[in-house]
Amino acid sequence: MRWKCNVLARRFCLALLGMVLFCSPPPCGASGFQATLPVNATLVHPVAPPPSAVSVVEGQIRNGTLYEALTACDIPPAEILSLSRSFKPVFDFRCSRPQDFYQVSVDDQRLIQKFVYKTSPLDEYEAVKDDKGGYRVHKRHISLDRQVVAKVFTIETSLYQAVADSGETQQISGLVADIFAWDIDFYLYPRKGDRIAVVYERCYKDGAFVKYGNVLAARYVGRQKTFSAFLFNDGQFDGYYDETGQPLKKMFLRTPVKFGKMTSRYSIRRFHPVSKRYKAHTGIDYGAPTGTPIFATANGRVTFSGWKGGYGKLTIVKHPNGYQTYYGHCSRLLKKRGQLVEQGEVIARVGQTGVATGPHVHYEVRVNGKPMNPNKVKKSRGKPLKPALLAKFKETVDERLLLVDRLLEEKDSLVMLSQDH
Ligand SMILES: [Zn+2]
Repeated sequence: MRWKCNVLARRFCLALLGMVLFCSPPPCGASGFQATLPVNATLVHPVAPPPSAVSVVEGQIRNGTLYEALTACDIPPAEILSLSRSFKPVFDFRCSRPQDFYQVSVDDQRLIQKFVYKTSPLDEYEAVKDDKGGYRVHKRHISLDRQVVAKVFTIETSLYQAVADSGETQQISGLVADIFAWDIDFYLYPRKGDRIAVVYERCYKDGAFVKYGNVLAARYVGRQKTFSAFLFNDGQFDGYYDETGQPLKKMFLRTPVKFGKMTSRYSIRRFHPVSKRYKAHTGIDYGAPTGTPIFATANGRVTFSGWKGGYGKLTIVKHPNGYQTYYGHCSRLLKKRGQLVEQGEVIARVGQTGVATGPHVHYEVRVNGKPMNPNKVKKSRGKPLKPALLAKFKETVDERLLLVDRLLEEKDSLVMLSQDH
């Protein structure tokens, strides 16, 4: 790359061509700047006209550091340190990764006027010099294009597989599993031929898919039962409701792990594979790889967190109305005794501590100290919508309900609904 040039030459270039890819010469002479610019950096265009010419340099961090990249542009170290200090509350440059992109605008004194840092299509930070010589740093608002898509997933073996076969990523199966977590155990319930219609948003930036937005509606048509979920804001929170306005959320989640395979049921008597004796199994075992997050199945307070005999590393959470939940054989316990936990919060990780033949979580529910079958726990619902909101809910939901029904009736599996910008 050649941009050796002096002010005269630059004016000449501008006059001749009207545009030029150039930056103004550094105070110490053009050659120094040219020689030390990072290989992967490119010069873009002058942002402001002379007298205080601003030039822009951009590039990727690659294998170096931002400090190295900026000093190579002849930016004084004190200037870089001041930038990094102002940035710290928003983004710490020690967390930089090779693919991170930077764009720096410097004046002819090589002082930073503006600095942009991108760590992903959704994460862009901007620093602008303030009057005191520091920087005002903020995360840029990224506007995304949202496309609403409706799709039917047909289960052959699992929701996971159905979603993957349709060309969507596992994020969608996670979102759907979360919505129906109170009603459907996606490891036990789905049967071959069950279908799920899902209306969801895909978010794009500059034409490229970046993430999924909300799931607006979903209907699970199983052999025995149908479950529906519609997203609605009750004036305070977003939540999922069935078509009559009943919230799907319940006091207990069905399972303490998202994708765990039930390896042992609750039973009064069973043959224990380790002790080789018949023993009651007072909970349900969910097999999952070591390290899998374990969720608190309901809001409560941790009353025990530590080692307990055959349970190995165990967390016990106390809930209202005399309920307790046990999470055993963990590899790591993330909460301490006395801490409050929310439903769905990660409290431990799957392991095989204590008496266990493989990595799994032993999940137990007790009422007033006595174990009960977790599948029989009364699943009391949250509060239904107030009558005043119900009319608005019906209005919102009717259209989506029709769409979901049409989707399930027709053989078409994909409908593009709208694209708003
Ligand atoms: Zn067990």
